[in-house]
Amino acid sequence: MMDVTLVDLKKDFPILARPINGHRLVYLDSAATTQKPQVVIDAEVDFYTQHNANVLRSVHTLAEEATTLFQNARHTVATFVGATRPEEIVFTRGTTESLNLVARGFADKFLKPGDEIVVSPMEHHSNLIPWQQAAKRTGAKLRYIELSPDGQITLEAAQAAIGDHTRMVAVSHVSNVLGTINPVAEIAELAHRVNAVLVVDAAQSVPHQPIDVSQLGADFLAFSGHKMCGPTGIGVLWGRYPLLVESDPVIYGGEMITYVDRETATWADLPEKFEGGTPNIAGAVGLAAAIHYLEGVGMERIQSHTQELGEMAFDRLQAIPGVTVYGPKRPHSAVVAFNVNRVHPHDVAQVFDSLGVAIRAGHHCAQPLMQWLGVGSTARASFYLYNDHQDIEALAHAIEETKRYFRQ
Ligand code: PLP
Repeated sequence: MMDVTLVDLKKDFPILARPINGHRLVYLDSAATTQKPQVVIDAEVDFYTQHNANVLRSVHTLAEEATTLFQNARHTVATFVGATRPEEIVFTRGTTESLNLVARGFADKFLKPGDEIVVSPMEHHSNLIPWQQAAKRTGAKLRYIELSPDGQITLEAAQAAIGDHTRMVAVSHVSNVLGTINPVAEIAELAHRVNAVLVVDAAQSVPHQPIDVSQLGADFLAFSGHKMCGPTGIGVLWGRYPLLVESDPVIYGGEMITYVDRETATWADLPEKFEGGTPNIAGAVGLAAAIHYLEGVGMERIQSHTQELGEMAFDRLQAIPGVTVYGPKRPHSAVVAFNVNRVHPHDVAQVFDSLGVAIRAGHHCAQPLMQWLGVGSTARASFYLYNDHQDIEALAHAIEETKRYFRQ
């Protein structure tokens, strides 16, 4: 049963009070980016109005305050995902940069011709192209875990793809299109049995459920602040400490060294080795505020609320004649991809927008998945903690209006 107290959270998000095209804003595009609660906006404003300075450099009061806030943010993230030490948290611009960092810093160093990188056809381009390119650079090969007809990774399929030559497995925890929740802990076991390293794209899972990296069995985990009520331009790479120690830095410059002479340089310890240049300090502070906000609501509550919305929307849309819904029926995360027969998804999204309903239409940065589905693009509604039953009704109503508009 829906947690009615979560419905009150809408008032924490100022943008949700803004009418769009004369209608109440029904924001169903949180898989692309989430809206920000006032506390996160306030945390960024407070940083810039009270504490702004560069970090890890100067000794003046503002610099020390900024450094403390920045490192506290790292501690907050570490505790949030169950990292064993804060040095395992590398701040990046987002999931994309985190995954590229693993591909460049780890895969390039350790892969050799004949090695295999196992991926799935449901990956976001961010968790596919870095591996395609790493394979080209190192002579390794890409291998695919084939999906079940409803878009799931079965353990049998994972077992068939992961073998003696597998050195890395890179999969998403939750699909940003199909809403599939992948059996990451079991995939970790299969990967570790052959001494492969598991990279998890957690962009769509960390915002929605409690995550403990040790229970998950991942070796690297990537996620984005902006998909969990935090600011844009800040993200996280978590890696197991020894693997991060072995990885090479990929951004060279200020603050990532211990010593530089005319010819050579040596690298700083973790995590600074990977954080060359001035980091997104206010972003990290905003991300910590977002984490405190989510923890205040409770990650278990958020998980049951958003999964319930995803499953309800799946059922509701599937029951509408002329609508095709993609992905597994159960369990289904907070993302529902669909098409209205004979209407282009961009036209669907445009009619929706005229009604104040914000969804995404397109290939969702998952073109191999579109090829697997046999479509060029889909519409996608995605939910977060501020959505409710009424939003699902608005979604269903918008589909009926779309059908009427196109005279179906
Ligand atoms: N992976 C998944 C599953 C995503 O949904 C996204 C964003 O949509 C990304 C990776 C990339 O995230 P970012 O654009 O924040 O780097």
